[in-house]
Amino acid sequence: MRVAQLGSGTPEIAVVAGIHGDEPCGVRAVERLLETDPAVKRPVKLVIANELALERGVRYVDEDLNRAFPGHAEATTHEGRLAAMLADELGHCLTFSMHSTQSHAEPFAIVEALGERARDVCPQLPISAIVETGPYADGRLFSEVDTIEVECGLQGSDAAIENAYQLTRAFLTAVDVLPGDTVRRDVPMFELVDRIDKSAADTYEVFVENFQRVEAGSPFAAADGEKQVASEPFYPVLMSPYGYRNVFGYTARKLETLSGSTAAD
Ligand SMILES: [Zn+2]
Repeated sequence: MRVAQLGSGTPEIAVVAGIHGDEPCGVRAVERLLETDPAVKRPVKLVIANELALERGVRYVDEDLNRAFPGHAEATTHEGRLAAMLADELGHCLTFSMHSTQSHAEPFAIVEALGERARDVCPQLPISAIVETGPYADGRLFSEVDTIEVECGLQGSDAAIENAYQLTRAFLTAVDVLPGDTVRRDVPMFELVDRIDKSAADTYEVFVENFQRVEAGSPFAAADGEKQVASEPFYPVLMSPYGYRNVFGYTARKLETLSGSTAAD
């Protein structure tokens, strides 16, 4: 784990990259921010989490770090110990954690539940959706630390690297670390409803677009050519053929659209 800081004092804000070693976009964003060394209005902690996995170019060494929280100092896995260190390091910081995905090119945010701060910050980020995980937060960073996760784009793409930097700048501006104004926008919200299991097979297909409504009776995925059909309408989220080992992704329902307008009345 590498920890750096911009500004002096005890940070209440943190940016985390490299929770997954095969998602370098956030790491590039943090490095670029450190190179730029901007003047800050309040201190911010910058953390590169799983350096060992990043060095090896793998998602994780022993287990998925974003399923390993709260972890333990004496855990038997690298990520179990790292989770405990990371939770300790981030403490009470509002944390911005960057990921990338195989499922969707447009950036979106993921929170456990939309609290007051996330409700204020998220409409100021260049994102196309907000996902609430609810009970599917098991073992993620935000089960331990107040966290807004962002999916910056497709894993390994240049666009994800650029998005990660723009998202970080927007986040840091929204929380008053960087000076300036953000652009507010309306953002649709989704809530995870269920996992979509994936049975063991050699080939997988996904026939639907994330965040686009799937009607009852529509085939949405297949394992070795065997189609899975929607029994009721849903919105697919984090859905991809090969992104996860045991699940295609999640079904979600659409909630209200979070308004970017600041008018109180
Ligand atoms: Zn990730």
